[in-house]
Formats: sequence, C-alpha cells, structure tokens
Amino acid sequence: MIIVITGTPGTGKTTVARMLGKKLGLPVYSVGDFVKGEEVDIKELEEKVEVREGILEGHLFSETKIRADWVFVLRTKPSVLLARLLERYSFEKAWKNVVAEAIDYCKIMALDHYGSVCEVDTTEREPGETVEKILRIMDGKDVCDAVDWTEDFKALLYKHGGNI
Ligand code: ADP
Ligand code: MN
Repeated sequence: MIIVITGTPGTGKTTVARMLGKKLGLPVYSVGDFVKGEEVDIKELEEKVEVREGILEGHLFSETKIRADWVFVLRTKPSVLLARLLERYSFEKAWKNVVAEAIDYCKIMALDHYGSVCEVDTTEREPGETVEKILRIMDGKDVCDAVDWTEDFKALLYKHGGNI
C-alpha cells in the first residue's frame, strides 16, 4: 500500500506520517530520501520513487504523479498555521506558506495529479487524533474534512496588513 501525505509546510505531515507508519508497520519516506538539494526536479523525484509500500510525506508529493492508494492533504487554519510557522521561519517565509494554505494550493495541486484526495483538518486535532481520523477514514468509518479558510484568512490579512 502507498499512502501520500501532503500539505503546506507546518500542517503536521512529518509528525503524522511517522505516527501512522508505526501504527501500520509501513516505512516512511520524505522527499529528501529520493532527491537532494534545494531545487527539486519533480520529474526526477517521480522517477526515483520506486517504493512498493510505504508512506510518502512532503508538500512536493502534491506535484508528483505517483500510483497511490490514498492521498491525504493535511490542512491547518491560516491563523493557527502562521503561529506554528513563526516558530521555524521568518515572517516573510511563514506568510508565503500561509497564503499557499489559504488558497488551497497543495489541495488543488494534488487534485490535479491524483484525481481525488482526502483532506484532514489538523487545526483542532493533536497529531495522534489526526492519525486516528486517517485510520478511521481508511476503514470506511469516517469521512474526509472540507475546509474553507476565507474568513480566517481575511481576518489575518487585516491584522497583518502593515507587514506585507
Ligand atoms: P510538516 O512536516 O507538515 O512541516 P511537522 O510535522 O514538522 O509539519 O509539524 C510542524 C509543527 O507543528 C511541529 O512543531 C509539530 O509538533 C506541530 N504540529 C504538527 N501537527 C500538529 C497538530 N495536529 N496540532 C498541533 N501541532 C502540530
Ligand atoms: Mn516535514
């Protein structure tokens, strides 16, 4: 089984993928396990991914065409994501990623490349709860989330208008 976990940086992909990998006994791979360097060539990444089983995690897996059994796009409310990202990035870099989240960038990319995706909102879930939700969805006992960040992002834009 191949499970793709993608989403904007800071949505919890690495944390969730590792926990899910332990639960399912599947190896977990990041983009860096296949290609090195800052500028990743998507075609090269696609060619190098030759795993038969495992979890592939990374925002760039929203842009690859890989045969996958499940494609999960982790989502986080922009205001919550901004706070998370400011712990690791400059305001400018954090804001760029928040905008990507607000406009559903990874979701749209993943939809384009895989045809159907399952969104899971991590905003009010601990990583373990996100993993439980994913397992329930795979078991047919729960459904994917639908998110709309318009209002939250509008408020955030208003609040940070002076910085951008
Ligand atoms: P990504 O791989 O998508 O960039 P990480 O797994 O590195 O995300 O998580 C980014 C940060 O957010 C980490 O500090 C992590 O502990 C925290 N985090 C991840 N998922 C959640 C969550 N569901 N709720 C709260 N914090 C989270
Ligand atoms: Mn990560």
